[in-house]
Amino acid sequence: MLEWGPMPVTLGHEVGGHLDDGSPVAVWPLVACGTCDRCAAGEVSQCRTGPGQVYGIGRDGGMADELVVDEACVVPLPDGLDVGDAALVEPVACGVHALRRAGVRSDHRVAVVGAGAIGLGAAAAARWMDANVDIAARHPTQRQAAEQIGVGTDPGGEYDVVVDAAGTEAAIAKCVELVRPGGTIALLASYWEPVAFPQFFTMKEPVLVGANMHGRDATGTDMEAAARMLADLPEVPRAMITHRFPLERAHEAFTVAADRAAGAIKVVLEP
Ligand SMILES: [Zn+2]
Repeated sequence: MLEWGPMPVTLGHEVGGHLDDGSPVAVWPLVACGTCDRCAAGEVSQCRTGPGQVYGIGRDGGMADELVVDEACVVPLPDGLDVGDAALVEPVACGVHALRRAGVRSDHRVAVVGAGAIGLGAAAAARWMDANVDIAARHPTQRQAAEQIGVGTDPGGEYDVVVDAAGTEAAIAKCVELVRPGGTIALLASYWEPVAFPQFFTMKEPVLVGANMHGRDATGTDMEAAARMLADLPEVPRAMITHRFPLERAHEAFTVAADRAAGAIKVVLEP
């Protein structure tokens, strides 16, 4: 997003912090309109107002000392999740959302392609759901982080659900290779460029499931589930947050964050 040039809003859609009364929270950055047909259907991630209503994208976000958010966007942190790790709730909730939409169950084999923060978060969430999980990592630090969070690192054989957390053509090809006939491919990545599917991929009849941000189901919100997972599995934030910088050093933080090969997974800015 920085490469688009100066943004009209303060960035930061992955946010944790304290309320005025001192209680630790994460922020659900999605502000759904609540009135369109998709909101009425309970699918707030499909809200027709789109990303213009998201804190840090269309509205001022969290890279600031203070941020005013709608009360409905406040997610209290469960015991066991430190406020300094709460910025992970949002990206992990994206993975929870994709896994829910893909119908992941505890007897499933799940593969994740791409081991950045989004992929690792999805793999950790699938493990938390008691699925059997392998993740394809490109860089040594990513592989190390995957081992720390307790998931396999060499996908092989067939999987009931395969998650694309990379967004490249090679990743899509890998997903089609790994999915079992009739299995599900969850498209969790952001596709910054068009991607082609491999020839004859429909011979496996995969179900393709798109996933956008996060929502809720009968059991609660994806944000709440992500917060519980991070509290239940403290090794996940330990593995995923590789760097911390004060807000004044944001420029340096972004430079470090862009260099995946040098070992950055998630870089946290602290006001
Ligand atoms: Zn709506």
